[in-house]
Amino acid sequence: MKIHEYQAKELFRTYGIPVPEGKICTVREDISSLLEGITMPVAVKAQILAGGRGKGGGVVLARTVAEAQKAAERILGMQLVTKQTGAEGTEVKTILFEQGVNIAKELYLSILVDRDRSGIVIIASRDGGMEIETVAAETPERIITVHVNPLLGLQGYQIRELIFGLEIAPAVTKCFSSIIRKLFTLFIQSDCSLVEINPLVITGENTVIALDAKMDIDSNSLFRHPDILAMHDSSEEDEFEATAASHGLNYIRLNGTIGSMVNGAGLAMATMDLIKQAGLEPANFLDVGGGASAEMVENGFRIILSDPKIRGIFINIFGGILRCDILAEGVVAAARKIGLSLPVVVRMEGTNVEAGRRILAESGLSLSNAKDLNHAAELLAAI
Ligand code: ADP
Ligand code: MG
Repeated sequence: MKIHEYQAKELFRTYGIPVPEGKICTVREDISSLLEGITMPVAVKAQILAGGRGKGGGVVLARTVAEAQKAAERILGMQLVTKQTGAEGTEVKTILFEQGVNIAKELYLSILVDRDRSGIVIIASRDGGMEIETVAAETPERIITVHVNPLLGLQGYQIRELIFGLEIAPAVTKCFSSIIRKLFTLFIQSDCSLVEINPLVITGENTVIALDAKMDIDSNSLFRHPDILAMHDSSEEDEFEATAASHGLNYIRLNGTIGSMVNGAGLAMATMDLIKQAGLEPANFLDVGGGASAEMVENGFRIILSDPKIRGIFINIFGGILRCDILAEGVVAAARKIGLSLPVVVRMEGTNVEAGRRILAESGLSLSNAKDLNHAAELLAAI
């Protein structure tokens, strides 16, 4: 789960990681009164769950109150388009007024889970403020990577490696080390998959301060972080994905036209391959889980059908815990209630498969029963 910059900065504050003073604003009428108590310059910053806001016009450094007022009125409520939002952009519902900082140097610093090594990796660069992907592609030698063993934790020599690599001046090494240590503790204690500070700034006054803050928290750990869960902003979620999650379904929306409903994530991945091999594009990933009930199947079916791009549906189920007859009942019930008019290909195998096929065949609905996966691909190609 991602949280906003201002929320991540609140957590930074509780861990003693320096961030600028700031105030948030969600209502246009509050802009002028909020600006009264802030000394200029002030950074006016759009709060959306995507990066690249500066380049998209969502971050403005204002030198006067009038400039700040103008920027705030423009940004609050705007549809902000950045490299990460897609062409339609994201509506800015909150802005952050933040103390303008006298930047001498911008660094990049992040900590993330390294799945390949089953460990933690710290990535840093002297080229902060830029997109790290560009730095990595064009000047990989300017990226410093430190692998941390999660059982041993962050070691002193690893902090020194970062200090030397980033050419941190002696006047700020102490401050920098303390930030790294605190950020690492925050990363572990909050069950993060990522914390990123871009830029981490060395100021003209020789202090170190986080100007941006990005945090991604492992959703599976949220049950033990009620304070972080309370920061959840559902307004930026995909509407279909949010509905699916509320039904306990594992659903990801994609851009294609063939919907699919599958039990088990591995089979779902293979099913998307099969759809592609049939020359079509998957519209979603949907894993109804091993022990799904007829009701869950019906909910899954409704979510697939609520996507207007859908031209056909592929149901691929191995009946283990979820028996084929239960699945067939769910499919038929949902199809009747919704008034199904799209072609549906069903491939079922496993427990009670004969009963399941009979329910489908006798339903009077336009469901094609695939004998096996190859047959399913042929039927899909014909859609
Ligand atoms: P994003 O990464 O989404 O573009 P940032 O928070 O990194 O947003 O802001 C973009 C740039 O704006 C930063 O690289 C920094 O140069 C500048 N900036 C951001 N906050 C401040 C601030 N409080 N004072 C001065 N400059 C700032
Ligand atoms: Mg940034």
